[in-house]
Amino acid sequence: MKKVVLLFILIGLSFILIGSGVELQGKSVKKESKKILFYTDNISSKDYETAKINLNQIKESTEKKVEEKPVEEVPVEVVPVRNWYNPTNNGYISNSMGFRDRDFHFGYDITSPLGTREVIYPIADGVISGIFYDNAGALIVTVNHNINGQDYTSMYVHLSAFARGIKSGMTVTKDTPLGFMGQTGNATGVHLHLEVADCALFSPSDNNCSSISGYYNYLRRRFREGFRGAQTVVNLPQSWSSR
Ligand SMILES: [Zn+2]
Repeated sequence: MKKVVLLFILIGLSFILIGSGVELQGKSVKKESKKILFYTDNISSKDYETAKINLNQIKESTEKKVEEKPVEEVPVEVVPVRNWYNPTNNGYISNSMGFRDRDFHFGYDITSPLGTREVIYPIADGVISGIFYDNAGALIVTVNHNINGQDYTSMYVHLSAFARGIKSGMTVTKDTPLGFMGQTGNATGVHLHLEVADCALFSPSDNNCSSISGYYNYLRRRFREGFRGAQTVVNLPQSWSSR
């Protein structure tokens, strides 16, 4: 490469000297041309080395700049915080909320192929507000939830057994077992009757739901207003095999 560049310079200079030689006298032109060629050769060699150093410096500084450049921010997919879960690992809705002849069905009936082996979990983190039997003998657990400042109650009815260690006033997560699916009380088959209301059952500060009778009046009123319990709050699918 160096030789090729030099060759071009030599050819170029020869033309210049030949051109300027028109005005100069014979021998002096030849002497001058030799001197200039020698001189040019040295300069070009130095220039080449200098250029090489400069090029390396530029390369280095460019590489440094690349290294110092802040890491590009990768757009992060925003995953919304999930608050609500299905009450069982497996289930399908066998009866929904609404009027049934003269009666009103306050919740969703959930059936599972696992029957009484199906574990019942809270639909969200919360506090157990009640563990009791109704007049027909149904085993019931109620849990209060506060999600983004809004109070909710979930009620789990017909359990075959309560989970060991659960107590009223106990803080639970959505993974704390409450009991097992069952048929206790007024039930024709093994299922979970799940009620969900947007109030705090048994809470003295809740004007609507401080008593169980107030709670049922409120839930009926909310239904007329378009509220659909677990369907509205949890968005229960028709059937599921994970929470
Ligand atoms: Zn039911």
